[in-house]
Amino acid sequence: MKILISNDDGFQAPGIVALYEALKDLGEVEVIAPEHNNSAKSNALTLHSPLYVHRAANGFRYVNGTPADCVHIALTGLLGYRPDLVVSGINNGANMGDDTIYSGTVGAAMEGYLFGVPAIAFSQTEKGWHHLDAAAAKARELVQQMGQHGLHGQNDGRPWLLNVNIPNRPLADIKPMKVCRLGRRHLAEPVITQTSPRGETMYWIGAAGAAKDDAEGTDFHATFQGHVSLTPLQVDLTDHDHLRYWAQTAAALNGSGA
Ligand code: MN
Repeated sequence: MKILISNDDGFQAPGIVALYEALKDLGEVEVIAPEHNNSAKSNALTLHSPLYVHRAANGFRYVNGTPADCVHIALTGLLGYRPDLVVSGINNGANMGDDTIYSGTVGAAMEGYLFGVPAIAFSQTEKGWHHLDAAAAKARELVQQMGQHGLHGQNDGRPWLLNVNIPNRPLADIKPMKVCRLGRRHLAEPVITQTSPRGETMYWIGAAGAAKDDAEGTDFHATFQGHVSLTPLQVDLTDHDHLRYWAQTAAALNGSGA
């Protein structure tokens, strides 16, 4: 199995080092990750400045760009082959519910998926890297299992895009994997303002909101109970339930000569 690893916390983050160590003997494994922390960069691509790739002493390659940049340039020329799987993480903190829209960890995985390569995003639910070894062991289990049972959907052959959150617990205390839908968070905390040394007002984006929909069946609920949550993701943002409503509304607008 050829595996490309990336992340959004940067190539020096403990999470990506642990992930590489856990996966390296499962096949041909390469790391191409951002030089600096790119959390909350989603699928952003760098279009107006050049990207440079350097190799660190441990063999990891790092890029002065976003998570999606890393996977994009890897798949469109840098690697020179097509990996079987893109794995992103392990992120420093949860990517549950609406986090998945902002997450650079999910963005790196999604970039692989958009190129037709199966992908998994791994996150620990709490920041601080506690019990990272356990999370890496869980990641290895899933990657190994997928290598055996299939990286693509059996009906349609589409690649999987999986979002996995792992509670920060010792391995023996992590409960079995639960397949979940995404929950939802409350609105984010207010913006934080400070005065700069030059007297200007600075704005800092506030923290993500607390869980709002954490009902049974959600990623929030499962991880709170100590389970690993797994959510298969798709990228289509179409509001399918309201296509008919908008078709009628558009027809009325068109008919009125507007
Ligand atoms: Mn991050």
